[in-house]
Amino acid sequence: MLISVAACVAAAVIAALASKVWPTLTNGTSRDNVAILSSLPGAHTIVLPPGVASAKRNLIDRMTVHHTDSGTTAGGQRVDAKLIGRWHEQRHLNGPYHGAQAAAYHFIILPDGTVQAGRPLNVAGSGTMNLDDNRRSIGVVLVGDFSSKTNHGQFVPGRPTAAQLRALTGLALWAFATLHFGPAQVHGHREVAASDCPGDRFDLNALRSRLAAAQASGERGVAPPIVLVR
Ligand SMILES: [Zn+2]
Repeated sequence: MLISVAACVAAAVIAALASKVWPTLTNGTSRDNVAILSSLPGAHTIVLPPGVASAKRNLIDRMTVHHTDSGTTAGGQRVDAKLIGRWHEQRHLNGPYHGAQAAAYHFIILPDGTVQAGRPLNVAGSGTMNLDDNRRSIGVVLVGDFSSKTNHGQFVPGRPTAAQLRALTGLALWAFATLHFGPAQVHGHREVAASDCPGDRFDLNALRSRLAAAQASGERGVAPPIVLVR
């Protein structure tokens, strides 16, 4: 699924990760909400080798959702953070990261609803050709192919599973409460850049409605596994 997965990711964006100092935010804001993350209990901090740029960011004010364009397995292997990291490392989308952290996305949601950590949360992902979106968003990918154009039943899941939507809701509610943005700032890849991702079987308006309803009802978020670069 390497080639179809590549359709969901942008090769050019690696240049953004090479930048040593994070560029000025395009909207001119001086908000810094990412520092909050380092004080959270359970955050796993990694240290890059000396001289390797971490390209840390200071603002997260949105979430961007993808699909993997794959089934639950590819080439006999489970599609998960580790395998996606390997795919993106092969495509040089990994920046200075290896293993699961090489994934272009911050979180990977498996069909059973398990949330895995990918790219460290305090650095940009590389999931789209929209660099501003990359540097400000939490990139989340759901394993599956939710496109009726490419998936004629050969890939499972062919639409987001109930468990994935529950997990995505928990993750989003946690992000809203922690980083202070809301359902209107949750978009699909196709809404921020030229792409079909995450497929026409992923109803993004329904997702935003679900998130708004959950937030309004006081539903609590679920903290994901957090990886940070020091
Ligand atoms: Zn995508």
